[in-house]
Amino acid sequence: MKRSKKKKVNLFKVLLAILILFVIIFIIFKLINGIEKDKKILMDNLVGMNINQVMNDIEDYKLDVSTEYKYSDEVEKDLVISQSIDSGVEINSGDKLNLVISLGKLDKEKLKNDGINELGKVPIMMYHGIKNMTNSETKYTGGNVDKDGYTRTVEAFKKDLEFYYQNGYRMIKLSDYINGKIDVEYGKSPIILTFDDGNDNNIKVTGLDSDGNIIIDKNSAVGVLEEFKKKYPDYNVTAIFFVNNGIFNQPEYNEKILHWLVDNGYEVGNHTKNHDNLSKISTSQTQEVVGYMYDKLESILGSKYQKIIALPFGSPYNKTHENYKYVLNGEYNGKEYESVASLRVGWEPEVSPFNKDFDKTFLKRCRAYDNNGKDFDIEMVFRMLEKTRYISDGDIDRIVTSVSNKDIVISDLDKEVIYYE
Ligand SMILES: [Zn+2]
Repeated sequence: MKRSKKKKVNLFKVLLAILILFVIIFIIFKLINGIEKDKKILMDNLVGMNINQVMNDIEDYKLDVSTEYKYSDEVEKDLVISQSIDSGVEINSGDKLNLVISLGKLDKEKLKNDGINELGKVPIMMYHGIKNMTNSETKYTGGNVDKDGYTRTVEAFKKDLEFYYQNGYRMIKLSDYINGKIDVEYGKSPIILTFDDGNDNNIKVTGLDSDGNIIIDKNSAVGVLEEFKKKYPDYNVTAIFFVNNGIFNQPEYNEKILHWLVDNGYEVGNHTKNHDNLSKISTSQTQEVVGYMYDKLESILGSKYQKIIALPFGSPYNKTHENYKYVLNGEYNGKEYESVASLRVGWEPEVSPFNKDFDKTFLKRCRAYDNNGKDFDIEMVFRMLEKTRYISDGDIDRIVTSVSNKDIVISDLDKEVIYYE
């Protein structure tokens, strides 16, 4: 009896010891865990460190890091200029950290000597028809097929394109110009090509290949442009075509042509339903002919057309005309339409999209014709541009110009602006 009681007491003691042990382990575990939780990670001072070292050091913290590069006279190349999270601030995985990194000292002297000027002028060339004939076959000067040069020979058009290229011009999309996205390599100048009226010689289709793709006449404007695309891959060949109700006047191919254009780097815009003179019709008719054409383009292309209108006859000539506001906004078929830009029939190059005077709702164009260097023909326009043209620094996010242009730069531009003396 006695022995058995002693045994029971011993068993009780062992169980109690085990229980106490568990409680102690539990308390220690809790304590350690609590300490872990309280251990905060604080941001280091990264300023002045090399970006490669920084990326290595912070890798484990799994931050959402973005970088931005800037020229700096004070901070050496590849070193951090600033950090969006201050040093000493607690960080957690997923936090956004933006680092500004130095590109080193900018050689402003070189920019100046190379004539870089992103406040210079941009030519928007206005073409209509391109006819498959040589210059000697016309009775007018320099490849003009008609007296005013609205239609030009293939020979003259090829010569124009070669001239633009050799003089350092590179094509950009009209929509990119309007949006201030001038992506042209260092030292080169942007140029924009426009075609009005949807003449069938803009893009003449001769048939379909075995896959059902359109076959384009090599002697129509797009045929010539496509040849230049192959010849000079850095030419960025593009153009915008402003069409009327007849589109390219090739009923069996019109829709295929529109799709081909927007799928191959070209743009399409509005030239009103019937090439209407917008200062000679009523306000409701204006909405009818402008809205109709947007509606038609949308029904074929969805959203892949440009909300840009080329004003037939360049009319109205001024923005005070009562119909002008319906060029930009109106209603047709129960739907509202909007033009983000309108093009006039002009005579001189337009200003840079970074100029305070830039007005995309009333842009001037240069007539692409020949008049022996007079009356704002191609030769005269490009002579005028020699000292005033836009010359790119090759960086789409940075604007470079002379300090003498400081007053004409848009003040709230969302790009870095660099001035040289
Ligand atoms: Zn027209």
